[in-house]
Amino acid sequence: MTARILSGKEFAARIKADAKAEAEKLREETGVMPGLAVVIVGEDPASQVYVRNKHKACEELGLHNVSVEMPETTTREELFAKIDELNADPKIHGILVQLPLPKALQSAEAEVLERIDPNKDVDGFHPVNVGRLSNGAGSLVPCTPAGCIRMLELADIPMDGAKAVVIGRSNIVGKPMFNLLLQHNATVTVAHSHTKNLAEITKQADILVAAVGKPGFVTADMVKPGAAVIDVGINRIAPKKLVGDVDFDGVSEVAGAITPVPGGVGLLTVAMLMQNVVTAAKLQLKK
Ligand code: NDP
Repeated sequence: MTARILSGKEFAARIKADAKAEAEKLREETGVMPGLAVVIVGEDPASQVYVRNKHKACEELGLHNVSVEMPETTTREELFAKIDELNADPKIHGILVQLPLPKALQSAEAEVLERIDPNKDVDGFHPVNVGRLSNGAGSLVPCTPAGCIRMLELADIPMDGAKAVVIGRSNIVGKPMFNLLLQHNATVTVAHSHTKNLAEITKQADILVAAVGKPGFVTADMVKPGAAVIDVGINRIAPKKLVGDVDFDGVSEVAGAITPVPGGVGLLTVAMLMQNVVTAAKLQLKK
């Protein structure tokens, strides 16, 4: 059997088309175009690529977007002041502080994320939005897991009653993925580095999500025949070679559906960010 390839490009295009239509409707009704501000502190080259991709997506959808570049030497107070300014700016509906912050600011990361107005928190990392997601009332949900769920819906892969296993329990992927799958009526197990007999658990999964950060971690013998396998991992194994957490060649012989890396979940993440900017604008205009 060879798995159906779930193309991030195809599903991201559908998510962006929907967000674009919603943004245009909002502008017709209110005269306001949703806007995103991305704050980048320092000069981390990987972060600069991510930020460029986010602005490119905004341009593609016609969203207002600004880039706030701050030097490596920025203090906690200066960053807070910038966030306060963006919180008060009516043209900005979404604020994203690109992580990781420079070393000197890393101990303030939680405070930085909490400084963002929860209704402008398009990354969904503010404790208020984490709580809302857990209560089942979240509208600004972390982009990577939200993109994966939207893809499963668009691909007609049933979550209701499915057994789902998520490998990884980070705040940005594993935990929100657990909550979202649960909301969609899957029976969910979350595995992590202390999990025993991992393969026995993953082999039961109709939907298997890998968010580990280890190249080729999920092998064919860990996968139930016909399962949908979502590879969140992005691992650079050579200067120009990215691979996921799933051994793509082996697993695609067993799985029913699989996301490739590159060309999979990464594209959904940016598309979902665009949707979150539009959702955030709606939240603010409703107030
Ligand atoms: P973290 O490093 O924060 O989390 C990794 C998780 O994997 C942890 O919960 C860890 O367990 C678990 N883990 C590590 N080793 C094992 C093991 N041997 N068995 C079972 N579980 C294990 O990573 P992130 O969640 O931030 O990211 C995961 C991957 O996804 C990375 O490759 C990252 O680059 C990628 N990513 C991709 C995105 C995209 O847009 N496609 C967006 C975000 C991330 P424990 O908690 O016990 O340590």
